[in-house]
Amino acid sequence: MYKTHTCGELRSDHIGQTVTLAGWVNARRDHGGLIFLDLRDRWGLTQVVANPELSPEAHASAARVRNEYVLRVTGVVRARLPGKENPKLATGHVELEVQQLDLLNAAKAPPFLINEEQTVDENLRLKYRYLDLRRERMRRNLQLRADVVKFIRDSLHAQRFIEVETPILFKTTPEGARDYLVPSRVHPGSFYALPQSPQQLKQLLMVAGVERYFQIARCFRDEDQRVDRQPEFTQLDLEMSFVTREDVMDLIENVFTAMVEQLVPEKRLFAKPWPRFSYQAVMDRFGKDSPDIRFGLELKDITDLAPQSGFKVFADAVARGGHVRGINAKGLGGYTRKQIDELTEFVKSFGAKGLAYLAVEAPGGHRSTFAKFLSPDLLAELVRRLEAEPGDLLLFVADQPAVVYEALARLRVEVADRLQLRDDSLLAFCWVVDFPYLNWSEAEQRWDPSHHLFTAPMEADEHWLDTDPGRARGQQYDLVLNNFEVGGGSIRIHRRDLQEKVFRLIGLDVEVARERFGHLLEAFEYGVPPHGGIAPGIDRLTMILAGEPNIREVIAFPKNQAAMDVMAGAPSPVDPQQLAELHIAVTETEPA
Ligand code: ASP
Repeated sequence: MYKTHTCGELRSDHIGQTVTLAGWVNARRDHGGLIFLDLRDRWGLTQVVANPELSPEAHASAARVRNEYVLRVTGVVRARLPGKENPKLATGHVELEVQQLDLLNAAKAPPFLINEEQTVDENLRLKYRYLDLRRERMRRNLQLRADVVKFIRDSLHAQRFIEVETPILFKTTPEGARDYLVPSRVHPGSFYALPQSPQQLKQLLMVAGVERYFQIARCFRDEDQRVDRQPEFTQLDLEMSFVTREDVMDLIENVFTAMVEQLVPEKRLFAKPWPRFSYQAVMDRFGKDSPDIRFGLELKDITDLAPQSGFKVFADAVARGGHVRGINAKGLGGYTRKQIDELTEFVKSFGAKGLAYLAVEAPGGHRSTFAKFLSPDLLAELVRRLEAEPGDLLLFVADQPAVVYEALARLRVEVADRLQLRDDSLLAFCWVVDFPYLNWSEAEQRWDPSHHLFTAPMEADEHWLDTDPGRARGQQYDLVLNNFEVGGGSIRIHRRDLQEKVFRLIGLDVEVARERFGHLLEAFEYGVPPHGGIAPGIDRLTMILAGEPNIREVIAFPKNQAAMDVMAGAPSPVDPQQLAELHIAVTETEPA
């Protein structure tokens, strides 16, 4: 037998028992006579003591072991000497007095410390991921992720959902990213696409009468890497028939609320029930559709004051169809010119041309780039709108609306970080609804679906599709948590005529649409229930619950920021023979 107990299990109750443990040497301390080993497995650490008087052989072996050696030890559990207990360790009241020590495997010195947190280059961690995963932090993340998935599975099964697997080798699925393609050997010149999501398949499962489907689904999107993106990721993919958007939102809200209360009791929900905002409201208040609502510093609109201000920067922006909005950086009125310049550079990196400021001083005084152009009344109105008090710093951006929103949304978070307003123990879930159904793409000169092309417009807005498509709102809902979009979903189109109309609106040729989605359109002629669903991202959700800065920390074997697996070396060139079998000719290779 390799182990009678885990390394996290022994307590005072076990004193006097003979037990066997197996695991890795986490640390070794040679105290001249006695040698102490901390033995580690997935469940914890146990202190093992080798005494040369009691078992000279085991002591001699203990003298030879190094960190990360794999051992089996048998011995007697005893109480630690008074004063030697370690209250930080679950097993800290006892230790194992070793009688027999078997070396199961030796280990080279690892390229970074496993028993301590230190800053290690991420690529080095990823190259030796199997060692990185031995670390406490990563072990906790793996466990949390497994618990999240299990909680979701259990609770959806209890609500009579059925888990269905859908193919990985499929056809292009439009989620707005580039596809990963897989060449077919038996059909020269043809390709499968890896699913960007199981969107069409889950809708077809509704046609099939499944009614309540879910899957912990792997999705593949060839897009640029970010903290919350990598080429493959995992979604809780879910679809239901005979539901409204409220039904889907309520279901997720209930499951996720119960989940976080159980799995991360050290964190608190910011609001319960979760707030629901319209798209326009979140844009106006926070500047982005996936806001962090844990703190204020909300955007205020002064566009209407700008033309009368006499300040050319404001007036010109408005004359060109732009907005002027600002935030009140509470209490930062003492910021120096240099600190304000830093913030200006910060917003410039997000496309703003500049940052106008007004530091409010007591009483009635101020420092400002533009206040001298404003009449006392206008100045008073501005101060009133931004709810400013002496000691506050008001920061404004004047530009096209998209630039103003983006710059201020970023600035708002930056200022919150400087003021330490982002409380990591809070989980601020919220819903965003009433998105515009379509967005006009200047580049392509056509309408783009703001969610995806299977989303239904609001019933009341359907008529706008014929007359003024930009005014229609979609039956889309986004799930937002602490500044991240963690999921999106919608009620779907379930009528063929409407689906074809949407294809036409977004400039998808009927022939192309039939070729790509003919199966779906055909299915739409065989009795389709009204249906809708959602797909929260497991990686992003776990990242936030774990308090990690990026999703790679909660994925066992992630790609690095250059979309590479540096451990196995993927992607990699393949043999000419393999390419020939696939009827593929490489036209360009990366310089070595
Ligand atoms: N398929 C969508 C996505 O992956 C989610 C959904 O509409 O259910 O974002």
